[in-house]
Amino acid sequence: MENIKDYTIRKKAEFRAEIENATVLPKLVIIQVNEDPASCAYIKGKIKDLEEIGAAYEHVKLPIEVSEEELIAKVNEFNADPSVTGIIVQMPLPKQINEEHIKRAVIPAKDVDGFNPLSTFRAATPNGIITYLKDNNFDFVGKNAVVIGRSNIVGRPAAQYLLDESANVTVLHSKTKREDMERYLANADLIIVAVGKLGFLDNSFKFKDTAIVVDVGINRNEEGKLKGDAVEDLKVAFKTPVPGGVGLLTRLSLLSNLMKAYKENK
Ligand code: NAD
Repeated sequence: MENIKDYTIRKKAEFRAEIENATVLPKLVIIQVNEDPASCAYIKGKIKDLEEIGAAYEHVKLPIEVSEEELIAKVNEFNADPSVTGIIVQMPLPKQINEEHIKRAVIPAKDVDGFNPLSTFRAATPNGIITYLKDNNFDFVGKNAVVIGRSNIVGRPAAQYLLDESANVTVLHSKTKREDMERYLANADLIIVAVGKLGFLDNSFKFKDTAIVVDVGINRNEEGKLKGDAVEDLKVAFKTPVPGGVGLLTRLSLLSNLMKAYKENK
């Protein structure tokens, strides 16, 4: 498997080359209501990526007391603007705003986050994972894929996309019994772990020597360092690192959705 940092550099160079001589650039609008540090850090990363590939962007900051109607009106402005390729509204939103209403407000053709149920784009994290595996010639057909976690943003869509690739898919979750989990994991060719618990997946489980583990979890250890859901010395063939793993793939996925929207709407 290709090192994920090298992979993202290579893919970004491909996107940059695609728009290098374009007269009209893809443009992403980022709407931010929340000033929380995590949201600011995510947006900073997204802007850095956009600058690296040479895409245009507009970062719109709205006051924290903005009403749902005002936010929807802003989204609609960009929905109607032909110079805008994609729109993202950074979550979470303040409590006076229903996030589901906002997710549905972004028109499907510009919903590069894939949040609108009618979006033509796939959810960023699982899409980034599947695309990376595909680009590394992982053969999904008839393989035993186990997804741990059933959230709407990671576990469920990941299971769906794996099924689309003809893998045999099992979804495990908080109600799965330990002995069942052991049994499924022992037979897994591919494991996507998205639980959000430090060291959840460790060597007390037995894995196939050939197993590949994609670690989605983002946790902090006692020293405040970022760590995944799996221990670092997991006895498998390959495990994605944290940091420098799925987070990078998720960011890349937003760029590939933006490029897709750009090509489709040109
Ligand atoms: P979530 O809290 O919505 O879902 C966690 C899932 O884990 C639940 O479906 C639950 O059933 C399952 N779970 C909890 N305890 C379990 C147990 N003991 N055994 C089996 N399953 C158990 O979280 P989420 O939004 O899916 O995120 C999961 C993790 O991935 C978090 O650490 C989050 O920060 C991280 N994440 C990373 C990225 C990225 O880009 N790297 C993106 C999204 C989420």
